[in-house]
Amino acid sequence: MQQLQKRLILITGANKGIGYATVDTLLSQPTPYNIILTSRDAKLGEKALETLQNKRPESSSALTYHQLDVNDDKSVENLVTWIQKNNKKIDVLINNAGIAYSSTNDEQKKLTVRTNFFSVVNLTEKLIPFLSEDGKVLEVSSRVGSLARQGETLRNALSDASLTEEKLKEIANNIIELTQDFKPFSIVSESSYPASKALLNAYVKNFLPTKLKATQQAYAIHPGWVKSDLGGLEAPGTLEEGADTIVYLTNLPFTIHPELNARLIADRKVIDF
Ligand code: NDP
Repeated sequence: MQQLQKRLILITGANKGIGYATVDTLLSQPTPYNIILTSRDAKLGEKALETLQNKRPESSSALTYHQLDVNDDKSVENLVTWIQKNNKKIDVLINNAGIAYSSTNDEQKKLTVRTNFFSVVNLTEKLIPFLSEDGKVLEVSSRVGSLARQGETLRNALSDASLTEEKLKEIANNIIELTQDFKPFSIVSESSYPASKALLNAYVKNFLPTKLKATQQAYAIHPGWVKSDLGGLEAPGTLEEGADTIVYLTNLPFTIHPELNARLIADRKVIDF
């Protein structure tokens, strides 16, 4: 009997939080995947791998670990070289790693935009050549990145019909100046986290699809407000709930879903960018 080829998933920031819960959920279900779990801290990543392998010994050979700090060029290069050398084709790239501060100075604002926007774009584009013909890119974003949540200056800049990719990066580089009129809402007290996700949403909506083949697709995902180091203890959702839409999109048949492609998805449904 012909063996079914397992699809390969690569996920960032999976030593804890939603990324870890995503791997755990994917391993628990009937669809078999091979998964490359990555983390910036090798010790934490290997520990996560070991815990998952002990919990699910039947799928322990499906898991591989590779170090990846998305902000570190050398680390990204090491991963790309390893993928190339091992002839790997990625079926699902899940860019999950992200950071948020509750209040920020300018350096932290820049680091937030770097981690949640520039490094996601960079890794996505470095890995597109290794994406399978019908591969998917899942960019973990947030509802707080919706245009309606941004200050007027950033909202106008990102909704400009003549927005180019170059202009998007220029906006990202000037995020401190462009978010002066941001107004805190709910638990979001600082501007750079929502701005970083708004930039990522604009990338998924306008530019990422142009870099993919017609048979490949990309999604931005709002995982829900869930309890994690980033989401905080007062968040209503669990990590498993946070993994749900990511797992759902991963499991969808590898055919084009025009109603979901290049959209922002929460609770398995399209929501406004
Ligand atoms: P956690 O803080 O629990 O996990 C974040 C993960 O990202 C950790 O593994 C962290 O590694 C990793 N990470 C941070 N910086 C880097 C880096 N430079 N390179 C590689 N990995 C890095 O957060 P969540 O699980 O809650 O968040 C996951 C994603 O979901 C994020 O993109 C977040 O913005 C998004 N999200 C979360 C929501 C929530 O309510 N929790 C709501 C909406 C969106 P380390 O352990 O080393 O710090």
